[in-house]
Amino acid sequence: MTFASLGLIEPLLRTLESLDYTTPTPVQAKAIPAVLKGRDLMAAAQTGTGKTAGFALPLLQRLTQEGAPVTSNSVRALVLVPTRELAEQVHESFRVYGQNLPLRTYAVYGGVSINPQMMALRKGVDVLVATPGRLLDLYRQNAVKFAQVQALVLDEADRMLDLGFSQELTDVFCALPRKRQTLLFSATFSEPIRQLAGELLRDPLSIEV
Ligand code: AMP
Repeated sequence: MTFASLGLIEPLLRTLESLDYTTPTPVQAKAIPAVLKGRDLMAAAQTGTGKTAGFALPLLQRLTQEGAPVTSNSVRALVLVPTRELAEQVHESFRVYGQNLPLRTYAVYGGVSINPQMMALRKGVDVLVATPGRLLDLYRQNAVKFAQVQALVLDEADRMLDLGFSQELTDVFCALPRKRQTLLFSATFSEPIRQLAGELLRDPLSIEV
């Protein structure tokens, strides 16, 4: 199996070649075609499975091919993560995978000054990687608008619940457009995660690797 056979476009294939990614991992082989088609996804995948490229590559492609250019303070794809470290790591992955595409990616998280984040969001970003609490702070200060959000990713959803982000997540979901693609990644599928998936996902493809 090749990345080309999964339907990825030339600029992404060139990037993957330069990274020496020759073969899709199992989660990538299942997730990439489904996400490209616009399907919702529920995936049980641990770190190390290649899950980040599994959602980043097809989302970058959809952002390139569909939807209007981003307007001020807007976001087109929102990736929620539990921690600052993961936010930086996932942001870096989007930056690397999107290096041959004209898209802007940014990360916001708590524990650092909010002002530079507010400034950076003014032009709008295509992909925003965020921890839930800081995202809500920015939203409530009108520094970020959700009307353009076409895709939502929950990465390490079980850890977000374990860290007590349940209310913040609910508040964010209530502010998002109904018509969007939603992808949920979690190491485990406990009852609270299944419940969350039931509320958020529309006819999802289930992936276990
Ligand atoms: P992740 O599970 O998303 O944290 O990715 C784990 C590691 O695998 C990262 O360092 C990626 O750069 C690498 N990786 C992801 N997909 C591939 C692939 N198809 N071929 C080779 N390495 C990969």
